Amino acid sequence: MILGSHVSFGSKQILESTKEAISYGANTFMFYTGAPQNTVRKNINVEYLEEAKKLMEENNIDINNVVCHAPYIVNLANNKDPEKWQFSINFIKQELKRCDELNVKYMVLHPGSAVGMTHEEGIKNIIDGLNIILKDDSKCMILLETMAGKGNECGVDINEIKRMVDGIDNKDRIGVCLDTCHLNDSGVDMNNFDDYLKEFDKNIGIKKIKCVHINDSKNPISSHKDRHENIGIGTIGFDTLLRIINNEKLKDVPKILETPYIGEYDEDKNRIYPPYKFEIEMIKNGKFNENLLEDIRTYYK
Ligand code: FE
Ligand code: FE
Ligand code: ZN
Repeated sequence: MILGSHVSFGSKQILESTKEAISYGANTFMFYTGAPQNTVRKNINVEYLEEAKKLMEENNIDINNVVCHAPYIVNLANNKDPEKWQFSINFIKQELKRCDELNVKYMVLHPGSAVGMTHEEGIKNIIDGLNIILKDDSKCMILLETMAGKGNECGVDINEIKRMVDGIDNKDRIGVCLDTCHLNDSGVDMNNFDDYLKEFDKNIGIKKIKCVHINDSKNPISSHKDRHENIGIGTIGFDTLLRIINNEKLKDVPKILETPYIGEYDEDKNRIYPPYKFEIEMIKNGKFNENLLEDIRTYYK
């Protein structure tokens, strides 16, 4: 089982991410190179990287399974403001370079939001942008994430993802990241995940799936909401999520938890207790922990 969670990328960068992942009992992780909501970024510090790689080795983390996530605010679908579109392209190019420097093979990207245009136009802009980006000499692969269909999000079904992948010239550098909450919210019955995989394989190819975000959902199927819930507490449920995690066809694909923090709030009104240590333990045990939220509160208090 290759299982980890979203972790922070603090002042010691990937070294901090690695330590946090180890503290959760994870053997992989996903990070943003800065705040997910902005594009302020620092240069990569090679010393931290070397130390992190040693720690990873000692703790059974294969860096080939580590994943980066691009910030939410870049939007390749919208080229109405050419300067902003170009900014998104340049930023993603830089982010891929940073991933190369960190020896990280995958970067997850939300395809984009078709604001004030059709999905058709949005998807065309995404393809054009990606083809410009992937002309560079970086190596990191971009993983298009399957989206919930909130607002004007593109990439809400197999057909849209297929059109994007088909439009990319440099096929070796494009893959897909499934997100269980997004799939549920977009209308996929997660109890019939095998049917979804079959359909995906027929249209895009199962080999293109390089990462799966494992989240429960606060909302019913087809709600188009995109609100993640802790594992086993939402509408998808523990058994269904466990079956997806243990799916033989996705055995070698890293699974990443992006479930919400719980408990008290800090000054910025963010919850402060990460659930990942306990969710990972519960998944490894293969049994739902009825006291999940209490256990987390007790541990961090
Ligand atoms: Fe995402
Ligand atoms: Fe996700
Ligand atoms: Zn989401």
